[in-house]
Amino acid sequence: MSEERRRAVITGVRAALTGAAAGYLLLRSGSGYAWLLRPPGAVEEQEFLRKCIRCGRCAQSCLYRAVDMGRLDAGIALGTPVIRARKNPCRLCADLPCVKACPSGALDPQLQDAVKTRIGTAVLVERQECLSLKGLRCEVCYRTCPLLDKAITIENYLNARTGRHAIFEPVVHKEHCTGCGICEQACVLDRPAIVVGPLQPPSESLYEG
Ligand code: SF4
Ligand code: SF4
Repeated sequence: MSEERRRAVITGVRAALTGAAAGYLLLRSGSGYAWLLRPPGAVEEQEFLRKCIRCGRCAQSCLYRAVDMGRLDAGIALGTPVIRARKNPCRLCADLPCVKACPSGALDPQLQDAVKTRIGTAVLVERQECLSLKGLRCEVCYRTCPLLDKAITIENYLNARTGRHAIFEPVVHKEHCTGCGICEQACVLDRPAIVVGPLQPPSESLYEG
């Protein structure tokens, strides 16, 4: 291969990887939606990609095996740690072993209180499928949330369809939600009605996976 051709191939590969990273639509979370959830304390995504040395120590330190490593479908994030909430959410360990194990600062050592973790935020993406919004008493996401009555509350109002029953709607409060994903894992539907999405979604259409 000529030098010119080799350079063109390298430039093309770099552009493809950068483009994939820019939208951070890199990995399937297991819920059918696609974005990266990082372990507790992860710095901003672009900085994270620069700082993470892909050593896997955070994954090794996690007793729950909740930290997985990005695979071939991860593009530029190959070998970096991810949380696949539907499969195995973060348990918010009080001593944050993953953060302590990180040697590079990709997981910010200043995070010392697990409740201040901000992996993302839970979003009721499939409102029309949520059993609670259909008038049933499900509320499994609410009951499994480690920040019960803070990160999720139940708001009740009249069921307009029947005019005599109540709807008990789970409502996420972003300011308290850690993004642990325990609610996403617990959702009783085959495709969870509640998923953890990025703190700052690039657009609402991101949830139309
Ligand atoms: S806080 Fe605990 S469960 Fe969560 S990723 Fe870190 S080590 Fe694993
Ligand atoms: S992700 Fe779900 S379970 Fe975890 S804190 Fe937020 S609302 Fe609660």
